[in-house]
Amino acid sequence: MRKLTSLALLYLLYGLGSAQAQDISYVRSCIKTLCSNDFYGRGYVNNGDKVAANFIRGEFTKFGLKPLGDNYFQSLGFPVIFYPDRVEIELDGVRVFAGHDFIMNPGCPSLKGTFKVIRVDSALVDNSSEYNKLIAKNLKGYFLIVDELKGKKLLRPERAKFILNNGLKAKGLIYRNNEALVWSPSMDFADYPILYFKKGSFPSLVLKLEAKIDAAHKVHGTQNVIGMVPGKLYPDSFIVFTAHYDHLGMMGSNTIFPGANDNASGVAMMLDLANYYAKNPPPYSVVFIAFAAEEIGLLGSMYFVQNPLIELKKISFLINMDLMSTGDEGLTVVNATEFPQWFDNLKLCNIAGNYLPDIASRGKAQNSDHYFFTEAGVPSFFFYLRGNYHHYHDVDDTYEALTLSKYPEAFKLVRDFANMRMGK
Ligand SMILES: [Zn+2]
Repeated sequence: MRKLTSLALLYLLYGLGSAQAQDISYVRSCIKTLCSNDFYGRGYVNNGDKVAANFIRGEFTKFGLKPLGDNYFQSLGFPVIFYPDRVEIELDGVRVFAGHDFIMNPGCPSLKGTFKVIRVDSALVDNSSEYNKLIAKNLKGYFLIVDELKGKKLLRPERAKFILNNGLKAKGLIYRNNEALVWSPSMDFADYPILYFKKGSFPSLVLKLEAKIDAAHKVHGTQNVIGMVPGKLYPDSFIVFTAHYDHLGMMGSNTIFPGANDNASGVAMMLDLANYYAKNPPPYSVVFIAFAAEEIGLLGSMYFVQNPLIELKKISFLINMDLMSTGDEGLTVVNATEFPQWFDNLKLCNIAGNYLPDIASRGKAQNSDHYFFTEAGVPSFFFYLRGNYHHYHDVDDTYEALTLSKYPEAFKLVRDFANMRMGK
């Protein structure tokens, strides 16, 4: 590890070299673009992720970044379940809406028909004659409401567990009172549909559920988008900034997950940094990677680590940014405990610039694109900002909901830390 040089200290104390500030209006327009309907939630319906990749490539070109290979794209592919057509549910003839009233489980299979609804609570499960009546039924035409079995003290927990695992072979399960309708993409079909309803979207007495869900399956081709600003002094040493650009896409043809905080915000900061380093050539080479397929299991970053376009051992430090729109409560650093000296230096940068109210330390975590780099021995931090923002993997994570209140400070902190890492 590099020790803090006297030059770096000078830089910290007097802010030398920080002439260029971040560009908040650029960042806002960037997030707005990435979250617009034309990007289809940057997922698998209408190849929304490809639209986003093309946009990022356009920005790299505009800034004059160099590609690492023949072009800015690194291609990869994987299977995915997606929902390009109908996701329609009616409860006793009243339409409810995907993303707003309910969500499906990841990989929910296709579903078409009208189904009866049975509420299964602890009283029913504990009453042997009622329970025997239920298990004697052919439940293929039924959805079971099962939320009253979860987290309760039950006399017959083994029966409840059996039902919650759909041991009764009902057509599907229903959970109510789920306040946050949080979704994720999947590579595989689930065994049966589970529908999670928001409190208030499921009337107290429902007899009939009508469903038209068209699940589709494909091998999806996608791409990481990679550009570089060559180093002036040490072109063979690399600082790498990463941010995933994919999100959840769509749930049927009407419901988009815009993914503003997750992770249009991180991409915007990465592009802002790319613009900054293109205008202020750094001593080390600085690489920018917009990763694909993070939400489905860190596939883009895993692919890069398995097929690196620069030698991994030449990466001096990697900074991954995911969820960068808040900051009122500070910054959390995953891998802080792995690189304590660099964590101390980060805190020093924060104090010198009086940027964020708190810098919190976390250990290793497999929760974003830094993970496979860390496992491969690349020194890395994963940064996410904390603040009063509670939308995550839901339809309300929108451009309009973001404040970006501490964006300027967060940008400067990330820049100062990277500059210090380059001894600038
Ligand atoms: Zn994310």
